[in-house]
Amino acid sequence: MRGALLLLLAAAALGGQPARPATPMNTIAERYVKLVLAVGQHDPDYVDAFYGPGAWKTEAARQKIALAGIAAAAARLGGEIAAVREDGDELARLRREYLRRQLEALRARVRMLQGTRLTFDEESEALYDAVAPRHDDAYFEDTLKEIDRAVPGTGPLIDRYDAFRQQFIVPADRLSRVFDRAIAECRGRTLAHVTLPADEQFTVEYVKNKPWSGYNWYQGNFRSLIQVNTDLPIYIDRAVDLACHEGYPGHHVYNALLEQHLVRERGWVEFTIYPLFSPQSLIAEGTANYGIEVAFPGAERLAFERDVLFPIAGLDPSRADAYARVRTLTDRLAYAGNEAARRYVNGEIDRAAAAAWLSRYAMSSPKAAEQRTHFFDTYRSYVINYNLGKDLVKRFVESRAASAARRWEEFGRLLASPRLPSGLRN
Ligand SMILES: [Zn+2]
Repeated sequence: MRGALLLLLAAAALGGQPARPATPMNTIAERYVKLVLAVGQHDPDYVDAFYGPGAWKTEAARQKIALAGIAAAAARLGGEIAAVREDGDELARLRREYLRRQLEALRARVRMLQGTRLTFDEESEALYDAVAPRHDDAYFEDTLKEIDRAVPGTGPLIDRYDAFRQQFIVPADRLSRVFDRAIAECRGRTLAHVTLPADEQFTVEYVKNKPWSGYNWYQGNFRSLIQVNTDLPIYIDRAVDLACHEGYPGHHVYNALLEQHLVRERGWVEFTIYPLFSPQSLIAEGTANYGIEVAFPGAERLAFERDVLFPIAGLDPSRADAYARVRTLTDRLAYAGNEAARRYVNGEIDRAAAAAWLSRYAMSSPKAAEQRTHFFDTYRSYVINYNLGKDLVKRFVESRAASAARRWEEFGRLLASPRLPSGLRN
């Protein structure tokens, strides 16, 4: 009884988290979290989620350590991680490597905040532990020719594509019913393979005037707030995209599993914080995007959209096939965003040229292209995390899983482990 009470008291003192033994790595992890909070004082987008001890956040705001002080402390901590010798299982080894690399990314972000200018590729290597392959215009032209043949009518392709897509816009008054049904489906498919904390849940909000189309704000205690941006028309395929990407088995599941297995079971406090501009984002976005294929292997997505979502949205199910065919082609333009962002971030082209490039090679409507250039302003090389991240995660999981059913197992393991982008190549 008494032991149980003491444990409870310890848990209460740490905001519901288990007591952590003062091992060298736990001490390093705590200092890392405090450094991330300190950078957050200089960069409002940096701390994407934090559900560790609230007093640390208050203290970071009170201290407001200067960037030079953060840089010096991070350099010292990096040296200490290199010197630690701690035995353990594979997860413990991944943890140490993860902390080392996350801290390196933090140091790069601090240098950027201090005024250092990096090229797009230098920045993605420094922050996300990966460099996206380059694709020339001819690579996209070939796909555009195929799309040109698949979209009916005459006139410029972008206009015909826009007219074709009009048939697949979800009416505003049906949006929440469509999303709720998609979320229920993605959740059910995930729960059939992955054990989630019993009290996990998320809330959906519809918002406007954002540089992104959807966002997951993880709040700890297995809860997420998902925001859907309704600035632009929402096409029917966004329902499954968003429900999987932001929810199940994407960001919400990833964060809940990290909290369950690493924070609560192991007391690894570094996972209570998520610095957005760090290698963790490639894993987060890559698993969120690849999760769509895991949840809906083969033709299952088309069947679900056609038979369930099209009727709820009041759309013609006989058109679902044609839409899915065109979407498969436009998915091949995923890397076009990187090329526009690379040239824009490197100062080779201005906003208008970047938007024009996105309209041509990513098939974005003028408004969506403009929205994406604002995303580039804030998030810069972050764009690679979606497409390269997905491809790296897909290759990693599928090289280990022979069948679609086995994919869930490997995917679930990846979601609950601290793996780095460069570690996906092994
Ligand atoms: Zn995301």
